[in-house]
Amino acid sequence: MTTGYDDNNIFAKILRGEIPCHKVYEDDDTLAFMDVMPQAPGHLLVIPKTGSRNLFDADPAVLAKTLPVVQKLANAAKEAFDADGVYIAQFNEPAAGQTVFHLHFHVVPRKEGIPLKPHSGTMEDGAVLAANAQKVRDAL
Ligand code: AMP
Repeated sequence: MTTGYDDNNIFAKILRGEIPCHKVYEDDDTLAFMDVMPQAPGHLLVIPKTGSRNLFDADPAVLAKTLPVVQKLANAAKEAFDADGVYIAQFNEPAAGQTVFHLHFHVVPRKEGIPLKPHSGTMEDGAVLAANAQKVRDAL
């Protein structure tokens, strides 16, 4: 059952600066940062600053500002990681795999023939995440 938006979720805490992230991009409406459990090198997340639980309750005006940022980060991640393609994923409700209840888009660089690691699998080393964030920033 959908229970609405709770601003104690971990991405809301990142937006308030209460917990750290490896930031790659920010504007007035959007934040992008590295996923701490990447499914491939360069896996990052794009989130609107306006809270919604997921796509179902998002304001279309917010979505209209978010997708161009997803596109920008997809291009940057592709270049930064010399990817053959980029996987974009967005999950709505636990049945679909959602674990953090603030709307977010996964941006995952892909290489031919290299399988994705599991979703929410292993925590990456902070130094690796910092280096990968720098690579994406350099490609922006
Ligand atoms: P999901 O809600 O299933 O679409 O995915 C949530 C994603 O957030 C997972 O890929 C997690 O690895 C990632 N994640 C969870 N906590 C953090 C955090 N503190 N910083 C960055 N990524 C996170």
